[in-house]
This record gives sequence, structure tokens and C-alpha cells, in this order.
Amino acid sequence: MSSISAASAPKIGFVSLGCPKALTDSELILTQLSAEGYRTAKTFEGADLVIVNTCGFIDDAVKESLDTIGEALAANGKVIVTGCLGARQAGDGENLVQQIHPSVLAVTGPHATQEVMDAVHAHLPKPHDPFLDLVPGGFGEAGLKLTPKHYAYLKISEGCNHRCTFCIIPSMRGDLVSRPVGDVLREAQALFEGGVKELLIISQDTSAYGVDLKYRTGFWDGKPVKTRLLDLVQALGDLAAQYKAWVRLHYVYPYPSVDAVVELMAEGKVLPYLDVPFQHSHPDVLKRMKRPADGEKNLERIQRWRELCPELVLRSTFIAGFPGETEQEFQHLLDFMEQAQIDRAGCFAYSDVQGAAANALPGMLPQELREERRARFMAVAERISSQRLQRRVGDVMQVLVDHAPALGRKGGRGRSYADAPEIDGIVHLLPPQKVSKTLKVGEFTKAKIVQAQGHDLIAQPI
Ligand code: SF4
Repeated sequence: MSSISAASAPKIGFVSLGCPKALTDSELILTQLSAEGYRTAKTFEGADLVIVNTCGFIDDAVKESLDTIGEALAANGKVIVTGCLGARQAGDGENLVQQIHPSVLAVTGPHATQEVMDAVHAHLPKPHDPFLDLVPGGFGEAGLKLTPKHYAYLKISEGCNHRCTFCIIPSMRGDLVSRPVGDVLREAQALFEGGVKELLIISQDTSAYGVDLKYRTGFWDGKPVKTRLLDLVQALGDLAAQYKAWVRLHYVYPYPSVDAVVELMAEGKVLPYLDVPFQHSHPDVLKRMKRPADGEKNLERIQRWRELCPELVLRSTFIAGFPGETEQEFQHLLDFMEQAQIDRAGCFAYSDVQGAAANALPGMLPQELREERRARFMAVAERISSQRLQRRVGDVMQVLVDHAPALGRKGGRGRSYADAPEIDGIVHLLPPQKVSKTLKVGEFTKAKIVQAQGHDLIAQPI
């Protein structure tokens, strides 16, 4: 029996902003808080202290983070700030968050579970609980998750060795540090054991996994495994097969070494889905962006991937109106889209990010032109995307159910291998025709695609 009653345990309010990488930081902190006997509060007012995990990627995200800190201070008064924005400096070299909100209790950068815990202990002493104190890692390898039970993000490395001119992530998170391959696989197994049916592999640069460790050999299940993307994907695929689960890869750069990973996709080891942030197609723009793999022939690479694995789905993000982008360079991007037939594409109109090297590049385009190019890009991207979706009508696909009230009697919602959660489309599931057929969240169903609608599909479960 626990010696602290739930009612007397100190309560912490937690707000998690930003990308999936920030989400995994939040999960680590929440796991640790929970393991130490802290409880979470649903409101700022009902908490003894509030932690805000911030994002500092684009100016809108900075504003949202600063506003949230302000709200937490007004409603509660005791606030600890962590995350990417916590690492940002103001123009005079002072910490940006502390300059704007001087009454915050502590500020840390991203990936700083221990520093956050130290700050929590200093302001809200750890509840003494002999039972919990005796259970090291009582929450298991997988820890606490903020995503629904059936899918989870797994971060395989932190930081990045590149210096893309529009990005400040390396200055906030540092150079690439890969997690030992055995740890990654142990966490994956714990997640599958916990009911995860879809594992989303994330990092800043997934193709670079292991470069910092010189692809050193680690151990998993008593066997040697290299700290290298291909070997990791192979091992993850074998592991996922035991649990009949999916593995999806994000943030992969188009290096020649990825061809072998695509071959594993063709063999069905992991989902034939690649999230490749191309950002642009024109070699000169890619050079100005200092993009990884800027010298690669991306179109040829994509064609090769599609030959190796015809069902491959490609997702990507792009920037329109990068400094100095000529109409001809932009047209190159539109032509690339037509030829590459990217299934899912997002596009930002270029905007300065405080502290990024690209701000000093000559040839900043007027805001209206950047927006206009973004709109032109999206018109092409959406047409391609819906044409490709249209071709699915009549297919039978495996769908992972995300939502199915009343066992799906009135239908539900799910995703096929072509849809990553939160960023791609969904599959609307019609009510099953057979009375005995039910839909359950976190389970797979086969479904016949009857219609394509915008970014989504409509399907009849069978
Ligand atoms: S690859 Fe480029 S955009 Fe991505 S995190 Fe590294 S520097 Fe930033």
C-alpha cells in the first residue's frame, strides 16, 4: 500500500507544446514525476506548480509558448519552463523567457528531464513514499505516454549535425547524439508489450542514426546489432512482426543508403511510407539552404525507390519563397512535384526565424510573393494528392482504428499505411454491414475504399 494518499500528493499542471520530439521530452518528465509520486492537475488553478514545455521553431510557436507561460503565471504563479524556447537568448544575450516573464521559477532547454526534476524538487518537495521509492523504474521501459494507447513516437537520436540556414534546432539541441541501439529496441519492445500497434520513429535526421557512434555494434536479444538505420529498421521490423504492429519512419533524408531501407519496406518489414523533408528541388536553392543531401539527384532517387517498392507513399515538406528564389527556381519545384508525385506535401511560405543564418541572405522576397508561391505550390500538391488518393478507390486496405464509438456500430475513423497520425489524412469507416463485425480502437480492420474525399478516404469495413 502506498503511504501517501492520492489527495495529499502534490499536483503539477503540465502543458506540452511543439513537435513530436518535444512530446517525448514531456513523456519522460511526466514519467519521472509520476514515478516520484507527484500527481497531475487538470487546471492551472488546481495545481501546486505548472511546467510548460515550449516550442521555439517558428515565430507563431514562440508567441504561443510565451502566451501560455503568461497564462500559467497569471492563474497559478509558480511556473517552470522547459523546451526549445527555454534555450533561446534575447538580442542582449539574456535568456528570452526570463526577460519576458522574470517571475518564472526556472528555465531549462530541451531534453533536460533531470534539470526540470531538480527545479521541481526545489520548489515542491518530493513526496516521501517508501513504496514508490523502492520501485525503481516502476513504469517500465516505456514510461508514460501522451499519445493514445495504440500508437507511440520513439525518438532514436537527439540533435543534428547539419546547419540548414533556416533552422535553429542545432543551436538549441546541439549535434547528433544517437541512442544506443539496444536501448531503442528495448523501448520498442516495451511499447509493443504495452499495446502499441504503430511505432513512429522520429529524430532530427533519421538517416544519420549512428554516425556519431561510428555505427558501433550494440546488443539486442543476445545478438550483435549495428547502430545504423538499416540494421535498426531490420530489427524493428522483426520485433513488430511478433506483435503484428506497424513501424513508420519519419525525417529520412534522401541518401543512397536509404535504398536498402526501401527494399525492407518492399519485403513488408516496415510500412512503405517515407517522410522525407525535401524543402526544395532546385540545387541552387538547396545549396543556399545548406540542406543535407543537396547534391543528390532526388528525382532519380525517388524513381528508384518507386521501382524497388511500388506501393511506397512519400510525404514531404517544402518552403516557398526562400531568399533569392527566382521564378525559374520556383517553377523547378512545381515541375519536381509533377514528376515526383509526392503523395502528401505541406508547404510554408518562408519567414525569418530569430537567430537563423538565412535571415542574412540577400534577396528577401516580398511577403505577398512568398504567400502567392505557397498557394501556387499547394494547388499543385493538392491536385496530385487527390489524384493519387482517387486511385485507391476499389482497393482493400488494412486500417488501424483510431475512433469507434459503440464498437463502430455507427462507423468510425482510422488510418491506412499511407496516413501518419496528426499530419496526413484519415479513413472514414462506414458502419459495418455484418452485424457480427465490430470496430475497436487500436485494432486493425480490412476495409474496401469506396470514395476519396479531399485528403481522406471513405471505406466499408469488411
Ligand atoms: S537537418 Fe536541417 S532542418 Fe533538420 S534539424 Fe538539422 S539543421 Fe534543422
